[in-house]
Amino acid sequence: MEHIYIGMGSNLAEPAEQLRSAIQALAQLPDTHLTGVSAFYQSDSLLPGQPRYTNAVAALDSRLAPLDLLDALQAIETGQGRERLERWGPRTLDLDILLFGDRLIDEPRLKVPHYHMHARAFVLYPLAELAPTDLCLADGRLLKDLLAACPFVGLERLSSN
Ligand code: ATP
Ligand code: MG
Ligand code: MG
Repeated sequence: MEHIYIGMGSNLAEPAEQLRSAIQALAQLPDTHLTGVSAFYQSDSLLPGQPRYTNAVAALDSRLAPLDLLDALQAIETGQGRERLERWGPRTLDLDILLFGDRLIDEPRLKVPHYHMHARAFVLYPLAELAPTDLCLADGRLLKDLLAACPFVGLERLSSN
């Protein structure tokens, strides 16, 4: 069993509903238990001209191999209408593997820890709701140091999921 954190995001077609559907799909993955879900957070898109994003983080315990989990996540994205037209374009659902136990993964299709998580408030703050405060990433960085360097700016924590 590995303890895994998944970053979820949506800014099309009722984003909160997309995240709720994704959470149900994660709970049904084989050899996997959904152990936690953060609050939902809204923020403006980092790129101009896109709708606001809703983001959250889910925690899983899973026996799936990393690339099998990535395949399963991409199948969930596709099942919820994800289209990849342009890099960082608007999307119904994005599911990213943030952390996979204490593994460092550097494969063409999969880099873990997720390479942009350290700079994204909409990832770090929901992650901090689920992870221990002394969480140390596989590359040695401490979650609390990443949070200290990433202000809670432009994020709105929603009171219910
Ligand atoms: P970003 O990576 O900046 O969050 P994105 O999530 O919009 O951007 P996608 O279009 O969802 O990017 O994915 C592009 C590719 O990233 C995927 O095809 C996948 O193979 C690769 N990838 C690498 N590392 C990861 C990871 N940790 N989780 C999910 N996908 C990853
Ligand atoms: Mg992403
Ligand atoms: Mg992605």
